[in-house]
Amino acid sequence: MHPIGHFMSNQPWSGTSDRTGEIRNPATGAVTGRVSLASKADVDAIVDTAAAALPGWAATPPARRATVMFEFRDLLKTHTDELAELLSAEHGKTLPDARGEIARGIEVVEFACGIPQLLKGEYSEAVAQNVDSFSVRQPVGVVAGITPFNFPAMVPLWMYPVAIACGNTFVLKPSEKDPGVVMRIAELLAQAGVPDGVFNVVNGDKEAVDTLLDNPRIEAVSFVGSTPIGHYIYSRGTANGKRVQALCGAKNHMVIMPDADMDQVADALIGSAYGSAGERCMAVSVAVPVGEQTADRLVGALEPRIRALKIAPYTDPGSELGPVISKQSYDKIHNLIADGIDQGANLVVDGREIALQGYEEGYFIGGCLFDNVTTDMSIYREEIFGPVLSVVRAADYETAVGMINDHEYGNGTAIFTRDGDAARDFWARVRIGMVGVNVPIPVPVAYHSFGGWKRSLFGDHHIHGMEGVRFYTRLKTMTTRWPSGIRTGAEFNFTGGKDV
Ligand code: NAD
Repeated sequence: MHPIGHFMSNQPWSGTSDRTGEIRNPATGAVTGRVSLASKADVDAIVDTAAAALPGWAATPPARRATVMFEFRDLLKTHTDELAELLSAEHGKTLPDARGEIARGIEVVEFACGIPQLLKGEYSEAVAQNVDSFSVRQPVGVVAGITPFNFPAMVPLWMYPVAIACGNTFVLKPSEKDPGVVMRIAELLAQAGVPDGVFNVVNGDKEAVDTLLDNPRIEAVSFVGSTPIGHYIYSRGTANGKRVQALCGAKNHMVIMPDADMDQVADALIGSAYGSAGERCMAVSVAVPVGEQTADRLVGALEPRIRALKIAPYTDPGSELGPVISKQSYDKIHNLIADGIDQGANLVVDGREIALQGYEEGYFIGGCLFDNVTTDMSIYREEIFGPVLSVVRAADYETAVGMINDHEYGNGTAIFTRDGDAARDFWARVRIGMVGVNVPIPVPVAYHSFGGWKRSLFGDHHIHGMEGVRFYTRLKTMTTRWPSGIRTGAEFNFTGGKDV
């Protein structure tokens, strides 16, 4: 089986390492491919290529860089079905979900098409006599992106279209679990006309990541993945003087107020808790009904919907959720469910024993629902990243808000209510990066920025939107005097010639 290699200078490159990783079809457990795991020398060679391409690309006018993005956007649109098929085969998510992910990625490319406007600086005429001042944003240099398995197309697209449009060159290290779709998209970007060396892909594991973090030619690192790894990447990258943004894990709560429309709530929860088998960093994994009656109505509305979920491989057009990514994830989720039972939660719907004929070795888990979960339990504290929803009953609204603010994660949250006062109080007071009001998965559109608070993000910048432009550029401010021949004499009072 020929392994997936790397992508350098707009060409596939096999690299020099003989280490490889397995790619499995999560629906069957079968090995379907291998991916090269780059050596330090491979990574350094790719970074050298990106560094060599930097001066030419950084000097290319933004409008010309935008032209490549326009072309790239059209190619992604034309190839969406092909890309979705590749993505689902490695990841296991349903085809409509894969197409949705690609569509959200395309939105970021559309944002990057506006780069000439986004990079416009500021100008102040006459800050002193004959003195003008202006600011511009310039590319940071060679940027690395390190991405997770759960959105193999969209999350990389959060990064490199903006980084490249800003004039940087890029080295992407995708997840080793599902790198296929990234490699095909790299070919499309080459076809769109990006010059050699501007966008590169290195496949690998910890050795590749550590090499990127230590290579002095990498100026900035965007990471998306789990909190322990993100914290490590932030610490090591910043210790090496790099700019780092690390978007990490989550435990997203949805508060259900007594006045909420329960059918609307239940439908919203089914999609957001179980869609993509719960493997979304914005999945709702904790439902917080306010009051016992609300909780009883909620559990009553959820239970039949969960039992009716259609769990099947992506090749079945009726599938609503597929398998989780790996045997390791499958075991972790099973262990956490067992912990939940041991610690006293009530498992209302148990999806563990699901049997799909012909897919016995696949990593399928049916929807699970826990009631009477308390905040000391592991299923509440830890990110499960599977189709498991916990109901934590809150006596009142203040308890619900306090619970959310006390949790170590702060990615997303939502409130369902018809009460405008409650909704406004909620979004104003929760210590969370992205908040939905009657919207269960409040993922910002591409021209806003995505990011969490607390241990869901290390670094100062959220991703894409203007925050992305700020992260991938440095600000430079000029102060100029024309005509230059005016004699001012020596100045010692730091006022730039103004009277004080
Ligand atoms: P992960 O942290 O295991 O892997 C992410 C990347 O880090 C991969 O490219 C992987 O190769 C690399 N990596 C893994 N172990 C490493 C190590 N020891 N040293 C250096 N690099 C290492 O995450 P995952 O399992 O692929 O993805 C799921 C996680 O990502 C979840 O926690 C999810 O919440 C999070 N996520 C967060 C966001 C967000 O925007 N906040 C978005 C998507 C996913």
